[in-house]
Amino acid sequence: MKIGFTTSFPVEVIYAAGHIPIDLNNIFVTGNGKKLVEDAEFEGYPRNICSWIKGMYSVALNNNIDAVIGVVEGDCSNTHSLMSTLQDKDIKVISFSFPHHKNRKRLLDEITKLEDKFDVDHSAVLKTKNRLDKIRKKLVLLDKITYQERIISGQENHFWLVNSSDFNSDPNDYENRLDEFLNEVKGRNPIKSEFRFGFLGVPPIISDLYEFLEEQKVHIIYNEIQRQFSMPHLRKSLIDQYLSYTYPYTIFDRLKDIKTEIKNRDLDAVISYSQSFCHRQIDNILIKKYVEVPVLTIEGDQPGKLDARTKLRIESFLDMLRYS
Ligand code: SF4
Repeated sequence: MKIGFTTSFPVEVIYAAGHIPIDLNNIFVTGNGKKLVEDAEFEGYPRNICSWIKGMYSVALNNNIDAVIGVVEGDCSNTHSLMSTLQDKDIKVISFSFPHHKNRKRLLDEITKLEDKFDVDHSAVLKTKNRLDKIRKKLVLLDKITYQERIISGQENHFWLVNSSDFNSDPNDYENRLDEFLNEVKGRNPIKSEFRFGFLGVPPIISDLYEFLEEQKVHIIYNEIQRQFSMPHLRKSLIDQYLSYTYPYTIFDRLKDIKTEIKNRDLDAVISYSQSFCHRQIDNILIKKYVEVPVLTIEGDQPGKLDARTKLRIESFLDMLRYS
């Protein structure tokens, strides 16, 4: 079965059960995003609801998805309504929750419930985890090369890490392509840049953001949430792995990781990206308060290219860094 999902969750369960997991976000953002959003609005989705939700709705309807796993706690409150509208279109929906306060027992119950639903043993799930961890170790290496050797661009780093949420629905193929990429970069010279930046927040809906930043001599060497999708902590147990994953818990969990990585990677500044109409915009208050390097907040709305106003804001921010 093709099992869609709304954000990273214990994907090991789906692979162990012999099904194909599909991150709906990745299909949306690499497809005809504008059309997918319009289609959802045509069905009645309001204009002032985040484009990702509308995009995922259309993707789930257009791709012969058999069931959708909606992360209804720890990601997005809009997911509840997304699930209801999909259920109304005869798509099977399954809920998964990350308990807000990282309650170990509750998370274990959620994972067990999922295993029962897909009729798979925990031992088979752990075997799959070990298989996927072999790929994740290579992603840790890719990330290290990005900030230590500086031979991998911010966009390439983003691409590999963001796609590790479902390993493009085919871990063997993903791993082969990753091996080829890691071989190919070996002969490269370091990227010439003026600034070392981090990118915080959900992956951008803007298609040319990394390209524009590279033109401005900004090297993104830390993609916060994309890195989280790659489960970089490589914990032994499944439960520890998904307790170390910062995205679904509080902003304070994210801040611990952000502050550590700003130091490790010696960042000059960070861009904190958020999506229009997203509750996570409120987190910027605390990001600005606790992050100790300059922070530029930017917002994306519709899929597409950077608008002139955001370009100007980025340029002004870089001037401020240059002359301060
Ligand atoms: S960007 Fe925010 S509002 Fe949009 S789907 Fe993600 S969490 Fe929900």
